[in-house]
Amino acid sequence: MNNRRAVVIGAGVIGCSISFELQKKGYYVTCIDRHDKVGWGSTANSTAIVRTCYSTLQGVSLAYEGLMYWRDWENYVKCKHKSDVAKYIECGMTQIMAPDNHWKKVIPIYDELGIEYKILNAEELREQFPFFSTASFWPPSLPSDEVFWEEPSGEVPGAVYNPGEGYVSDPQLATRNLQESAEAVGAKFALGRKVTAILRDEHKVLGLTLDDEENVEVDIVVNVTGPHSFVINRMAGVDSGMNVSTRPLREEVHCVPAPPGVNIQDAGSATSDNDNGIYFRPESGNMILVGGGASGDDMEWIENPDEFNKNVTEKLWKTQVYRLAKRLPGLQVPNETRGVVDLYDVTEDWIPVYDRSDLNGYYMAVGTSGNQFKNAAAVGFMMATLIDKCENGHDHDSKPIIVKGRYTGLDLDMGFYSRLRAVNTESSLSVLG
Ligand SMILES: Cc1cc2nc3c(=O)[nH]c(=O)nc-3n(C[C@H](O)[C@H](O)[C@H](O)COP(=O)(O)OP(=O)(O)OC[C@H]3O[C@@H](n4cnc5c(N)ncnc54)[C@H](O)[C@@H]3O)c2cc1C
Repeated sequence: MNNRRAVVIGAGVIGCSISFELQKKGYYVTCIDRHDKVGWGSTANSTAIVRTCYSTLQGVSLAYEGLMYWRDWENYVKCKHKSDVAKYIECGMTQIMAPDNHWKKVIPIYDELGIEYKILNAEELREQFPFFSTASFWPPSLPSDEVFWEEPSGEVPGAVYNPGEGYVSDPQLATRNLQESAEAVGAKFALGRKVTAILRDEHKVLGLTLDDEENVEVDIVVNVTGPHSFVINRMAGVDSGMNVSTRPLREEVHCVPAPPGVNIQDAGSATSDNDNGIYFRPESGNMILVGGGASGDDMEWIENPDEFNKNVTEKLWKTQVYRLAKRLPGLQVPNETRGVVDLYDVTEDWIPVYDRSDLNGYYMAVGTSGNQFKNAAAVGFMMATLIDKCENGHDHDSKPIIVKGRYTGLDLDMGFYSRLRAVNTESSLSVLG
């Protein structure tokens, strides 16, 4: 047991997971959040898809490790829970083969790591999902473009299908599970408290100030504030020592009923449809959630994460839902819009920063770029390992820490997530990571 006091700022899924793992390492952890409940930041509106189709060996390895935690969730968060335990739904993951060839990058990595997948040709794709159109809509266009309404002439070659992947039914509940697990091992939560300043000297973090001007002295601060990450990094004066920056990006996810006659929860899968500029998954109540992210689409970068339009816009609704209606021709587009709006915290290469900083004692798990819910528990373990090693004198910047995945035994190279890295051009440079 050591007597070092750590504050984790941010009680989203990743902040709670780091709090749980760091407390288990013997630190005295307090997790602070300005909301009254955990998981009320961007985690609340996460689509929470659990998939392994990333562009890099490290990206796939971490996602595979992250997936194993969800499969073992009930056991991992074992404690006397006041709440139910979040459900992991193994509906499978379908990656439509698109001309951007993302799927071609992933297959050799699957082969190298022994990750289960099936190649479906177009006919097999139709057999597995009879309510899918296998037409190609490439390149994704907008309903305001004439070409959007033209009959497609080609067909997608098929899809890569991963059984055993899927989504988490309730991301907030999963976060509560982590909170209660962390509390059970001794971590404290200070909710409804906002951090307004980071206290430091030239070399080391000293503590932080809360909204009622209370100063709290601590040895370790971990910034896990999602779309507010750049605000806290600026407060700490560590942003100038980073090659990678973080920026909030506004996103909408829409919710529509499944096509009549289709039981989407039994028959559907989570689907990445780059051919058509969307992704979607089944949602309870026979609904479908659909999100976007085609590379040609407009991006709405946000200056102030406390001020952005939280209403679904007609333009994005039409783009995403009409695209979905092309892939699922039986879909009946509702008259009323329904969905959620939230922010991704995006880096230049859409790969997170899981690292220390130039300021001793100050760490960060930021820049999760719309794709790290699935990895939360694995990231908690990695960050706790990194913090513990750095606090015990390891020079991570010159000798990057490699963490062995608890479940897969894979080498998770934390140098890959360094704040000092050059932009990783192997990335899809999109939400796929
Ligand atoms: C619409 C959408 C869809 C997504 N879909 C997926 C998906 O399908 N699969 C996937 O893997 N990932 C997905 N993601 C990404 C994933 O949800 C995030 O990577 C993850 O939830 C980030 O968790 P976090 O704990 O880092 O941040 P957050 O959940 O944002 O938590 C940060 C916390 O910091 C707190 N905070 C901020 N500033 C302060 C302050 N000054 N003082 C105190 N507290 C503060 C906030 O209140 C907040 O609770 C999606 C994200 C969005 C927005």
